[in-house]
Amino acid sequence: LKITSKEIREIFLNFFVNKKHLKIPCSSIIPTNDPTLLFINSGMAPLKKYFTGEAQPPNSDLCNIQPCIRTIDIEEVGDRHHLTSFEMLGSWSINNYFKEKAIALAFELLVEGFKIPKEKLYVTVFEGCEKLNLSPDYESARAWEKLGIPKSHIVFQPFEDNFWGPAGETGPCGPCTEVFYDTGDEHGEAYVEGGYFDTKNRYIEIWNAGVFMQFNKNLDGTYTPLKFKSVDTGAGLERLTMVLNGLDSVYETDLLKPIMDEIALQSKGNLSQKAMRIIADHLRTTSFILSEGIKPSNDGRGYIPRRLIRKCAALTLKAKVEEFDFVSVLEKVIGQYSDFYTHFKQNKEDIINTFENERTHFQQVLKDGFKRLEKITGKESFEISGKDAFILVSTYGIPIELIQEYAEEKGGNVNIDEYKEEFKKHQEISKSPSSGGGKEGGGIDLKELEGVLKDIPQTQFKGYEVYECE
Ligand code: ATP
Ligand code: MG
Ligand code: MG
Ligand code: MG
Repeated sequence: LKITSKEIREIFLNFFVNKKHLKIPCSSIIPTNDPTLLFINSGMAPLKKYFTGEAQPPNSDLCNIQPCIRTIDIEEVGDRHHLTSFEMLGSWSINNYFKEKAIALAFELLVEGFKIPKEKLYVTVFEGCEKLNLSPDYESARAWEKLGIPKSHIVFQPFEDNFWGPAGETGPCGPCTEVFYDTGDEHGEAYVEGGYFDTKNRYIEIWNAGVFMQFNKNLDGTYTPLKFKSVDTGAGLERLTMVLNGLDSVYETDLLKPIMDEIALQSKGNLSQKAMRIIADHLRTTSFILSEGIKPSNDGRGYIPRRLIRKCAALTLKAKVEEFDFVSVLEKVIGQYSDFYTHFKQNKEDIINTFENERTHFQQVLKDGFKRLEKITGKESFEISGKDAFILVSTYGIPIELIQEYAEEKGGNVNIDEYKEEFKKHQEISKSPSSGGGKEGGGIDLKELEGVLKDIPQTQFKGYEVYECE
């Protein structure tokens, strides 16, 4: 490795501390006083009150490293750079400096601090929108140009891409400018001015180098100007470690490689690369949630670890690696985080026991499910009916995407339209959202769950408000 993730943490924090930013503790991934958010999904989420003026920050300019969970990215997991949990390197300026300085700081850190050749950098800026009466963000574009980023590397993008926030349903938000790293021709089409900008694979977003906070989004969907303007930035530690070392994906970084190696060892060659990536990701996220004392359950936040654990167990059973040793992988995950978050060390036993309880509890049911699946797919070409698929999902807990994969590998398919109908029928029968039963059986995907859970009551768990970070 050219540079370790630990060095990246230090360089980032030192840089901003030297620029008079106060290093503040990170928060628990469980939001306090924010019922609109399932998990902390960005560095700014626990700091909303500073942007709205409801609370006074200890210093106008701040920085820290914040663990984040984004179940919304679950379907991307397995690609080069999306994880359901990651650490965000964040810096903020509350009612102090704005666009030009934020951009200059980002550029200085990337090019001088991390020594990224500037030809490798592409940036996006907001193209403006009528709804909010915002014109194209030429100010940011000019700031980048002044520093030596050529026009051909500056991409104007619409609201969907370059207007950030809020974190949750309501709160501070604004146009942003983001930095992408070009991972080269072997990863996709080169960007030409006005053409397609491939951010799915070739150009990896490393830093939202400035959300220019100037609006508050309200519950009714309207936007009101904030009392003052602020800057919010966030860079993914895993992604920075990936690109600074010229690696193919976040899974080869020192943050995930030891976990991947252990999974590969346990897999004995039976798991696909994608399956191994999913397990690595899901075990990290599960550990973070369990480290808070949250128990797997059929509703509320506990539903997330339940789904993630089951997916991991199902992946190993599908590949017929029944003796897969999850504990040894969890030990790697916990070891990784224990270096920085003291509560992982303290709760190690609890994380492992809770995980194993949950997994073994469902193991036999899942196994029976796979037996049933095998019977249905026994013939040469076949179609799994919607009803059969639904039973496998609802009674046996096999994720639908794994049933599809399984069928395809054997030369068959699932009647997915029929399955969806079956799913809808069932949902209508068990509509009562408080029953919980419908969710579990119905296999609502995690993306929808963030919406489903938006009005869950404040968490009752006596967890951590801030983590002790080293
Ligand atoms: P993407 O477009 O790649 O999904 P994003 O625009 O949603 O990223 P932001 O909300 O701007 O991401 O978050 C700031 C930074 O956090 C990103 O620039 C990236 O470095 C990191 N990041 C965001 N989502 C993920 C993820 N799912 N896994 C790893 N890092 C992430
Ligand atoms: Mg995203
Ligand atoms: Mg983005
Ligand atoms: Mg972004």
